[in-house]
Amino acid sequence: MAIQRTLCIIKPDAVRARNQGAILQQILDAGFNVLAMRQEQLSREKAEGFYAVHKERPFFGELVEFMISGPVVLAALEADDAVPRYRELIGATDPAKAAEGTVRKKYGTDIGNNAVHGSDSEENGKIETQYFFASELSS
Ligand code: ADP
Ligand code: MG
Repeated sequence: MAIQRTLCIIKPDAVRARNQGAILQQILDAGFNVLAMRQEQLSREKAEGFYAVHKERPFFGELVEFMISGPVVLAALEADDAVPRYRELIGATDPAKAAEGTVRKKYGTDIGNNAVHGSDSEENGKIETQYFFASELSS
């Protein structure tokens, strides 16, 4: 096991539904440590930069509009094997396909409005936590 970092974003749908507290509690109960956290209204530039890897995908415009539709909660998480363990905790991208008890199953609505983000690799966990918390975290 190795200590990893992963970026959690509680997306605008979940913040609007006032589920940020319940989601954070589920994350804490699963043993993740919160290294840094804040609520933020993302600018279009910040959201487009974050999802730049998806810019050729057909849903990119919709994704950016959604991510700037209201405030998000950003949290840099750390734990042993944080990246795969957090992906398991949140469940599949499409809430309809996510396992019972996962965050996306409980709080997501559809494949776009899926309540949370999680980094998909150890490398991206480092890049994404630095993208939002460069001044708070040492790399
Ligand atoms: P994940 O967030 O599970 O890593 P992806 O990286 O593939 O999933 O996609 C990033 C985000 O883009 C998803 O969390 C979801 O909000 C949105 N998204 C993915 N696929 C679609 C789709 N087919 N239609 C609309 N939005 C999508
Ligand atoms: Mg992804």
